[in-house]
Amino acid sequence: MLRPGDTICAPATGKGGAISIIRVSGPDCFSICKKIFFPVDRNADVLSLKGYSIVYGEIKAGDEIIDDVLVSIFRAPHSYTGEDSVEISCHASQYIIQKIMELLINNGATSAYPGEFTQRAFANGKMDLSQAEAVADIISSTSRAAHKIAVNQMRGGFSAEISKLRAELLHFASLIELELDFGEEDVELADRNDLKAIVLKVKTVADKLASSFKTGNAIRNGIPVVIVGKPNSGKSTLLNALLSEDRAIVSEIPGTTRDTIEDTMSIDGIMFRFIDTAGLRETTDVIESLGINRTYEKVKQAAVILLLDEITDAPDEINDRADSIRKLIDEDQRLIVIINKIDKGSSELKELERKIRISESEAKIFISAKNRTGIDELKKIIVDTSIQEKLGSDDVIINNIRHFEALKNVSASLGRVIEGLDNSVPDDLIAIDIRHAMHYLGEITGEITSDEILGNIFKNFCIGK
Ligand code: GDP
Repeated sequence: MLRPGDTICAPATGKGGAISIIRVSGPDCFSICKKIFFPVDRNADVLSLKGYSIVYGEIKAGDEIIDDVLVSIFRAPHSYTGEDSVEISCHASQYIIQKIMELLINNGATSAYPGEFTQRAFANGKMDLSQAEAVADIISSTSRAAHKIAVNQMRGGFSAEISKLRAELLHFASLIELELDFGEEDVELADRNDLKAIVLKVKTVADKLASSFKTGNAIRNGIPVVIVGKPNSGKSTLLNALLSEDRAIVSEIPGTTRDTIEDTMSIDGIMFRFIDTAGLRETTDVIESLGINRTYEKVKQAAVILLLDEITDAPDEINDRADSIRKLIDEDQRLIVIINKIDKGSSELKELERKIRISESEAKIFISAKNRTGIDELKKIIVDTSIQEKLGSDDVIINNIRHFEALKNVSASLGRVIEGLDNSVPDDLIAIDIRHAMHYLGEITGEITSDEILGNIFKNFCIGK
């Protein structure tokens, strides 16, 4: 798809607003621009202006003035694409945009494909592939958390780590291959213990990055939350209380579809998605139904499990119910034990508080869903237990399925290397697995690419990016 000799153009801004920007990039952008743009300052010449200058003038089609515009000049390599580029800021009329595009094309530019500017930036070494993908994520991010991940990735934290790991592997792969070149001579250039240590290290990092995908994916699509509890414990009331202020905000975000079974809400800039809330009114008594109906599946899918009990329930009953959930979930999942209907009052509140046991990673809270007492505090607990610690840390979070799959392959290849080293498998086979691991690491950063991978990534971009 790359056509480096061509000068490409496209509107870079969406509909709406007063100003639009048309981007032009490629070797002929200045000469094409000169044919249609006439600076007010007759001495100014786009062919000779320095990079980062802005010129005011008119776009003309023959004698006809199309618009007053500002033209920004970018000289290679100091532009988004790394090529000579201009950006024409014009008035945001569809007619004007259309007309300027027409003029550019008639004078030798071609219309850009979706993502072509970013693809050029990648091809010219302005960014690696995972950074290019992050550009698309930044544009589509709808929450603070998704934005943070995308920004981190665009800054290159993630690829820097991958490139470093790859370089360490490359070192060993080369040594082993060199040994193989010596043939029959028994030369050992790569210390097998050092090799194993490095392979283990890379595998640990790859596994850690791969496991962060669960968080990254959740942030992208909404962190899954499930409410369980016996019938009439107040699950629907609680859901309404949680969602009440947020509904409007959530449905305003373009591209978020709220169908009847999925409710989403954003707390503190983080998206939460309630699993199958349409079924809330069904019998979902955890004790009776775990393992025999869909409650089991729902709990399995959730990152946060809200177990709703009533103040009138016996402490043992609440503890038993919580235990049955604990049996199902793994260490990544968070249980919050909620005791509802405190407005009904209880003489044994303190007693109940003391008798309900929770572990360090869990939380318990007393609320009244009906009166909305404790709802804000519950929201805070949901954020804190599910994500805050992960977002606060500098750990890289993967949110891209392509990266996840590549990391899984890295891990599998390195697993074979370790097995091979332990079982004295021939060196040439070990070298092949190291090369495989390097290949998959390189796929993430774009050091290894195929047209298919590139095509898949850039087709998802908007035109003009
Ligand atoms: P679900 O079957 O678990 O979804 O329970 P609902 O949300 O339908 O609530 C069952 C009943 O409990 C309804 O009559 C609610 O009004 C009532 N309820 C829910 N929350 C509270 C609360 O905090 N206090 C009191 N007193 N009643 C509540």
